[in-house]
Amino acid sequence: MIIVMKLGAEESQIQETIKRIKDLGFNTHLSQGQNRTVIGVIGDVSSIEESEVERFRATPYIQEVIRVSKPYKFVSRDFKKENTVIKIDGVEIGGKKIVVMAGPCTVESEDQIIAIAKEVKKSGATILRGGAFKPRTSPKDFQGLGEEGLKFLLKAKEETGLPIVTEVMDTRDVALVSEYADILQVGTRNMQNYALLKELGKADKPVLLKRGMWSTLKEFLSAAEYILAGGNENVMLCERGIRTFSDFTRNTLDLSIVPVLKAESHLPVIVDPSHGTGRRDIVKPMALAAIACGADGLTIEAHTNPQKAISDADQTISTSDLHGLMGEVKYISRMFGREI
Ligand code: PEP
Ligand code: MN
Repeated sequence: MIIVMKLGAEESQIQETIKRIKDLGFNTHLSQGQNRTVIGVIGDVSSIEESEVERFRATPYIQEVIRVSKPYKFVSRDFKKENTVIKIDGVEIGGKKIVVMAGPCTVESEDQIIAIAKEVKKSGATILRGGAFKPRTSPKDFQGLGEEGLKFLLKAKEETGLPIVTEVMDTRDVALVSEYADILQVGTRNMQNYALLKELGKADKPVLLKRGMWSTLKEFLSAAEYILAGGNENVMLCERGIRTFSDFTRNTLDLSIVPVLKAESHLPVIVDPSHGTGRRDIVKPMALAAIACGADGLTIEAHTNPQKAISDADQTISTSDLHGLMGEVKYISRMFGREI
C-alpha cells in the first residue's frame, strides 16, 4: 500500500501518518520527490481493514491511498514519478547524460587493468568495469583474482579517477567488495539470490542488478524490490540478454524490455550488449540501438588485447574500437535529446 500526501503537506502531518502506520504494526519507506511525498507501507497489508484504509483516505492532508497489487512497489513509477538519478563521484546515472561503463570481463593483472583503464578514460567512458570475483560455468575455469583484483581496480581508479563497478557473488563478500567498489554488480546468475539481495539492501553502495537470463519482467523488478525494501534506493537495472531458441548469439538481447522498464520503474536502465550478444561484431549496433530505445547507459567489455582476454574474449571489443563506438554513441545520444 502507498499513501500519497497532498502537495504542501507539512512535516508534522507526514510524521503523524508514519506514526499511524507504525501503530498498525508496519514499517514505512518515505519517498520525498520534487512534487510529492509518498509513504510506502512495508509488509503484507492484506490484514489492514478496509475501514482503516478509508480513515487514511478521509484525512485532509492525504491525497490518495493505493493498494498496490503488483509484487513490487518501491521500484514502481506509481511510488515515485521522477527518474532516480544515482550520483557517483560526479557521474550521474539516470539523468540526461548517458553513462558508459567499460573494461575487461576479468581483472587479469595490475598492468592489464591500468592499461585498459587509461584507454577507457581516453575514450570518454566514465566508469571502469572489471570482475575480481567471477561466476564461471565450470569450476575449472579461472575464478578471478579476488581481493587482489579489487586492489588492482583501486589502483586503476587512482590512476584515472574512474569509479569502479565490480561483481559481488556472495553475502560474505559484500563488506569487502564495498570497501573497493563504487557500484556493486549482481550478475545474471545471482538475480534471484535473495540472501545476497537482502544484504545489498543494507549496503551503502549503488547496485547494478543484471537481469536473470531466464527472468520475466515481474521477476526482475521483484528482485530489485528486495534491495529497495531493504533500504538501498540506488539500484540500476541491467538488460544483458536472455536465453531463447536463437542460435546465432550467446543470448538474445531483449531491447524491448528497455522502454517497458522505463515506464514501469523510476530506476535507471543500463544495457549490456557484450553478454547480450556474445559477439564483438554486433556490440556496436546493439549499443546504439539501446540508446535509441531509451537506455540510460551501457556496460561494455573492452580489452587492449581482446583475443587474449582470459574470459569472454569472443564478445570483448578492442579499446580502439571502444573509441569509435563512443563517437557514435555521442552522436546517437544527441539525436535522442541525451548528452554524454
Ligand atoms: C559480467 O558482467 O562480468 C558478467 C559476468 O555478466 P553476466 O552476469 O550478465 O553474465
Ligand atoms: Mn564477461
